Amino acid sequence: MKVLILGGTREGRDLATRLTDGGHHVVTSLAGRVSAPARIAGTVRVGGFGGVAGLEAYLATEGVQAVVDATHPFAERISANAAAACHSSGTPLLRIERPSWRDHPLADRWLWVADHDEAARAAAGYERVLLTVGRQALEHYRELTGVVARMVELPEHPLPNTWEVRLDRGPFDIDSERRLLETTRVTALVTKDSGGRLTEPKLRAAAELDVAVIVIGRSPTPEGVPAVATAEEAITWLREQR
Ligand code: NAP
Repeated sequence: MKVLILGGTREGRDLATRLTDGGHHVVTSLAGRVSAPARIAGTVRVGGFGGVAGLEAYLATEGVQAVVDATHPFAERISANAAAACHSSGTPLLRIERPSWRDHPLADRWLWVADHDEAARAAAGYERVLLTVGRQALEHYRELTGVVARMVELPEHPLPNTWEVRLDRGPFDIDSERRLLETTRVTALVTKDSGGRLTEPKLRAAAELDVAVIVIGRSPTPEGVPAVATAEEAITWLREQR
């Protein structure tokens, strides 16, 4: 079966490995944001498709039989495009989505906000803030001082020179997250509701050290797209599409 995985996540990489091992023809698509992405099994293509029309054309010319949208929960545009292109072309589409942290045992201790601007306003009330929101969102926080910003790679535009930048790629365990919070002496942490377990240790470390947590909630996902939480469940779904 020829499967297109919209990737950029650990779940996408896991699925590519399992499907390739199972003899499927897998193409993983990356946006091309990171200059040195982790190795992915099967074929990898890089760069945008050119909106819904471009994705529709790609599905047709490549003879894609099923699409798994394994993009990050905050990669909203590509998920909406995938829903539209798969609907119009009749291509089966599944979403792998990390479960939200809304049900996390610590969730009611955190301040939940709707977007980055609201998060920045809330963060302004703290002396030292750790930003773990991804480099593309940092523009919203430029007015803040006392910032430690962790990201995989520097953004295109220079960051305020008062900020302390930590270039690092996860996953991070509880010990290293505790160490980071302690050594940077932050009093608040800002994160998106990325969900799942991969980036969750920072939340437990924050609770231990009494660091406030500001969480940006997710937007609703496209309607009518079935969703699972793991690569394993995606394989079961793919079997049913044959
Ligand atoms: P986005 O805002 O939803 O997408 C913007 C545009 O980038 C899309 O319209 C599409 O261009 C292109 N694009 C995005 N993902 C693509 C993919 N997997 N393959 C080909 N084109 C893609 O996306 P984003 O938030 O910038 O995220 C980009 C990538 O980084 C995704 O693969 C995502 O899984 C990964 N990522 C994102 C986050 C996050 O917090 N947003 C965190 C970790 C990893 P066209 O319209 O031209 O097709």
